[in-house]
Amino acid sequence: MSHDPNCIFCKIVDGKIPSRKVYEDEEILVFHDIAPWAPVHLLLIPKHHVPSMVEVTPSDAPLLGRMMTMIPELMLASGVTNGYRIMVNTGQDGGQEVAHLHLHAIGGPRPWAKG
Ligand code: 5GP
Ligand code: ZN
Repeated sequence: MSHDPNCIFCKIVDGKIPSRKVYEDEEILVFHDIAPWAPVHLLLIPKHHVPSMVEVTPSDAPLLGRMMTMIPELMLASGVTNGYRIMVNTGQDGGQEVAHLHLHAIGGPRPWAKG
């Protein structure tokens, strides 16, 4: 399983950096964003290091499908009942700051800090 020792999110997977975990299985970790835009701001990541959507291949479809389709249940469990935003910033022009693929799931009553 690929792993980047300098990657913040790989360190979170390893428990070297603490996080507020929401869900975990053998290939996916979900935790609260450290700088939330909104009352609920979750990050969903594959546990192995994939830098961004640019590197995704068809073999990642089941994993990405699972990440997408677990969001409704996670948001409901977090108390989000009035809609949310799913976002995948990709690369420099996409505004991606952490080079480990992640889905943002953002919701809760407005106003939000951003977006
Ligand atoms: P990006 O801009 O790459 O799409 O989003 C990266 C997100 O990761 C940002 O929303 C940022 O707040 C969050 N983040 C960065 N470092 C950490 C960290 O150490 N812990 C947690 N929980 N979130 C982080
Ligand atoms: Zn990583």
